[in-house]
Amino acid sequence: MNVLVLTTTFPPEVRSAALLMWELAESLVGVKEKIVSCGTCFNVTDQDPCRICADPARDGRLLCVVEEPNDLLAMERTGEYRGRYHVLQGALSPLDGIGPDDLKVRELLARLEASAPAEVILATNPNVEGEATALYLAKLLRPFGARITRIARGLPVGGDLEYADQVTLSKALEGRREIS
Ligand SMILES: [Zn+2]
Repeated sequence: MNVLVLTTTFPPEVRSAALLMWELAESLVGVKEKIVSCGTCFNVTDQDPCRICADPARDGRLLCVVEEPNDLLAMERTGEYRGRYHVLQGALSPLDGIGPDDLKVRELLARLEASAPAEVILATNPNVEGEATALYLAKLLRPFGARITRIARGLPVGGDLEYADQVTLSKALEGRREIS
């Protein structure tokens, strides 16, 4: 059934409800089409580069590595962090067959080579996969000469950054330690 049939064969109240639904569906399709992955940090965004990457006020000396866009949002909610991000789009998980090539690791190395940040904060989740990913990256990133830190423990073990409250996450960021 198309809009034309709707507008001619149904009573006005049905027509207006149907048209409203139609418009809603079309606008949802529009939103979906606009969401892309930022070509720099791999956050989800409606513009590339995303607002954070495009913001000149962000501190380019700090690079925070997270697993998922929701973790980036959790960090942003703390209001404490003014650096830049890199979204891995997952964590290492050999049992699920997820290796470095399935994550944005190569892209991270390219960024380090291009922008040489002073510090890389590994803010992967405080669970087995997240810790393994942080250790793997710490080793891999060492030759670049940046200070490599890991957000502090104190986050619930086995948990997810996304669900940490702002105070806990702020403290974890504040108490980050160098990985040796
Ligand atoms: Zn970005």
